[in-house]
Amino acid sequence: MPSPEPSATSPPAVAALVSLVALAVGLTLPDVDLRLGLGHRSALTHSLLPALLLLAWRQRAAACGIAAGIAVHLAADCFPRRMTGYATVKLPLFGALPPLESYAWLALNAAAALLLAAWWARRLHAPAARALVGLAALAAALRYLWHDPGGWPVLALAGGVAFAVVRGKRRSLFRHPPDREEH
Ligand SMILES: [Zn+2]
Repeated sequence: MPSPEPSATSPPAVAALVSLVALAVGLTLPDVDLRLGLGHRSALTHSLLPALLLLAWRQRAAACGIAAGIAVHLAADCFPRRMTGYATVKLPLFGALPPLESYAWLALNAAAALLLAAWWARRLHAPAARALVGLAALAAALRYLWHDPGGWPVLALAGGVAFAVVRGKRRSLFRHPPDREEH
């Protein structure tokens, strides 16, 4: 019986599906701290840690999706009405971080989770699957951000960054025409 791919890892479609499901879980995963009695905005769940644990267990497709979901969640958590009390990050043993440190914690972990997700998406998924997963991830992220009070500033920020990137790309395209030199 011919096997379609001599691969030791899960088939691409399964990996893509796992990443997508993990993304959906990752979007709300940080707030399980409420149910676990960890204190809200626990640093254990509002961080890269869940994704790192999955990587340690070699669940890379899941880690990729969880990291993407957590990145979106933490980005929205960066914009509470006020960074006090409930909104601040709680470190185990240490307690609540001050507002500035809470902002830094959430922003840095969001950025790191996004980078980790992008890096693993490139390594795990073929371009076509990556595009599909990316689109689905974008739709899920937009839906989450749309409904979260802190999501609107994130949407505005992401829109600004996307605009700058597209403009920069277009400019560099025009700067290097393939068949003639410019002065
Ligand atoms: Zn949260």
